[in-house]
Amino acid sequence: MPLPLPVALVGIGKIAVDQHVPAIQASPDWELAATVSRHGSVAGVPGFTDFAAFLRDCPDVSVVSLALPPVPRFAYAEAALKAGRHVMLEKPPGATLAEVHALQALAAERGLTLYTTWHSRMAHAVAPARAWLADRRVLRAHITWREDVRKWHPGQNWVFEPGGMGVFDPGINALSILTHILPAPVHLTAASLTFPENRQTPIAAALTFSGGVTADFDWRQEGPQTWDIEVDTDAGCLTLRMGGNVLEIDGQPAGGENTIMGEYPALYARMAELVAKGESEVDLAPMVHVSDAMTLGRREITAPFHF
Ligand code: NAP
Repeated sequence: MPLPLPVALVGIGKIAVDQHVPAIQASPDWELAATVSRHGSVAGVPGFTDFAAFLRDCPDVSVVSLALPPVPRFAYAEAALKAGRHVMLEKPPGATLAEVHALQALAAERGLTLYTTWHSRMAHAVAPARAWLADRRVLRAHITWREDVRKWHPGQNWVFEPGGMGVFDPGINALSILTHILPAPVHLTAASLTFPENRQTPIAAALTFSGGVTADFDWRQEGPQTWDIEVDTDAGCLTLRMGGNVLEIDGQPAGGENTIMGEYPALYARMAELVAKGESEVDLAPMVHVSDAMTLGRREITAPFHF
């Protein structure tokens, strides 16, 4: 397929503006050929407000990147695949596991690429952490993912609606790293979920997994923000900080780079590779843990939350 590949970006909101547009525009592999958004647009790029109109009018735009929240995304992904387009999904890849399985089957049936992206897996220190852990035995691991929802999701009420996942919206990033770096899989055994009394999704969660793995997610942290994963092994202690971008071994700096700006360029490079090879990449392991937490979790009620 000749480069650059034309891509349409759908849902011009926070993550599209912060990450997708700069990543696409800086890449020799991609041309931002269209946007589809009811309110947003990108200067100099043809914009549509209706997805069906885009599919009808732009048959040559072969790739669609969906940067919408998870609940509305399935209908767009299904329509795109049925119209013969390759599809890239923001994380979490859907509102339910079953709808992503349906998309996976549809993509396979049509010979199209479906890519469930996990941007945190592309953080600078994740690949070296995975390599370091590959031949070690994990004794214990703990995730601390504490951030301020008002800072990172200002006014985004969808995160507190059914399917918005609440604190698992950032927490699933930690789980995407965990499921990628551990040398053996773990499964959830218990969860405590804290719901604001006026909301449908949790604002905090404490998770326990097999294999000595625990996680603490909280969206009420003001001041310094924490995105750390500590792993104790039979041969040393590994710590990932800054959302997987910085690596420490036994408390000493061991690599990475303290910036998140490498993640989306790496996702688009991977999508170009998948399209060129005619392959899909669909990994639901992080979302299985979230789904299990919602199934098994003990519910606690806390003070109402207002943006
Ligand atoms: P957002 O700004 O609230 O939404 C993105 C865009 O989606 C909106 O601007 C809106 O565009 C469109 N949209 C929203 N609801 C819709 C609906 N019901 N039907 C059709 N279109 C709708 O959200 P975001 O923060 O960019 O997050 C989008 C996805 O990226 C989420 O899955 C999130 O987990 C992921 N993500 C976010 C961040 C972050 O820092 N915010 C980081 C990494 C990944 P129009 O109204 O113009 O159509």
